[in-house]
Amino acid sequence: MSDRDSRHKASMQKLKTRVDEKVASATEQRGLLLINTGNGKGKTTAAWGTVTRALGYDYKVGVVQFIKGLWECGERNRLEDDANLQVAIMATGFTWDTQNREEDTRACQEVWQEAARMLSDPNVYLVVLDEITYMLKFGYLDIETVKQALENRPHEQTVIITGRNAHRDLVAMADTVTEMQEVRHAFNNGIQARRGIDY
Ligand code: ATP
Ligand code: MG
Repeated sequence: MSDRDSRHKASMQKLKTRVDEKVASATEQRGLLLINTGNGKGKTTAAWGTVTRALGYDYKVGVVQFIKGLWECGERNRLEDDANLQVAIMATGFTWDTQNREEDTRACQEVWQEAARMLSDPNVYLVVLDEITYMLKFGYLDIETVKQALENRPHEQTVIITGRNAHRDLVAMADTVTEMQEVRHAFNNGIQARRGIDY
């Protein structure tokens, strides 16, 4: 064996030992709290990817969309016929264009009721709270209410929170926090959001 080969072999061995140790020490089984935050693209996409993953094992999934989309959503179109998926969308109110505090708060509270129901249902394996960070930021939703619902959720239930500027208390609570970092975004070079790619 060449010098290089044996060095490689030794370092792979080390890596394997480290990974094996980690796998062996991960013994706890429970639902997780994940946060996809940061300014880069991919927060909602990754959440829908996980929705698809869970549906693939016939788990029940709830998605709550806290921003009334101006756009459609291809993932929703594709998956909404799945009997295991429930989607709740903020009916009226918040968009980036119109911000009416009173109306937005009412609409947000309404869809939160749906979220709260999912967060107390042990049959729901995964709940996505898409763009909920903005509701907290604008004060349409109270952080303590959200924390309590998360803390009291069923032991096996996983929750994914998406949106920029995640509240520090949520970040502190979460098991897995991923910050999407923007290196570049096409939009800033005058390229339109693309159907089936961006929405
Ligand atoms: P996506 O839905 O593509 O995963 P996201 O959830 O990370 O994006 P949002 O802030 O929710 O990000 O973005 C909503 C829309 O804006 C999406 O169409 C997304 O492609 C686009 N977008 C995401 N990040 C950026 C960015 N840094 N600059 C401009 N547009 C963005
Ligand atoms: Mg998003």
